[in-house]
Amino acid sequence: MLLEMASLFNRNGAVMAVELEEQIKEPSDYPDVVEFVEPVKIEGTLKNENEIFVLEAKAGTEVMLRCDRCLAPVRKELCFEIKERFAHAGRENEETETFSGDQIDLADFVKRGIIGALPMKVICREGCKGLCPVCGKDLNEGDCDCDTTYIDPRFESLRALFNDDEEV
Ligand SMILES: [Zn+2]
Ligand SMILES: [Zn+2]
Repeated sequence: MLLEMASLFNRNGAVMAVELEEQIKEPSDYPDVVEFVEPVKIEGTLKNENEIFVLEAKAGTEVMLRCDRCLAPVRKELCFEIKERFAHAGRENEETETFSGDQIDLADFVKRGIIGALPMKVICREGCKGLCPVCGKDLNEGDCDCDTTYIDPRFESLRALFNDDEEV
């Protein structure tokens, strides 16, 4: 995602509108993203402040994730901001990112923004019951006959206690 800069060079105070759009086809770099259903859109401004180029932009996209409990697809809108200061290589300071030539590649900033905007938890609906850990049935569609307490070792030790009581 390349931002063309040259029209702002040597024009202190000049502001340029930024509008970029790119479809991400390879979601494997993004944890839990199944696919990008909308392109990433960036809108904002780039300003020349004494040959420091200040980018302030809002960005957004839509992705398909999976429910943490039942694995159903969940569509999610992601919004984030990109605020960066860029300096020509050799003129950078601790507050700036550097670039060389006439362009800045925003790919890394976009990637960071998307990963930061991804939700920690993805649930398809309030109270999703998830999948049966034994047979894999989607419990939102109805119960199964599995004894799910059997595979949980915490319940296992509790049951052992109960059994001991009964034998006394
Ligand atoms: Zn679910
Ligand atoms: Zn089951």
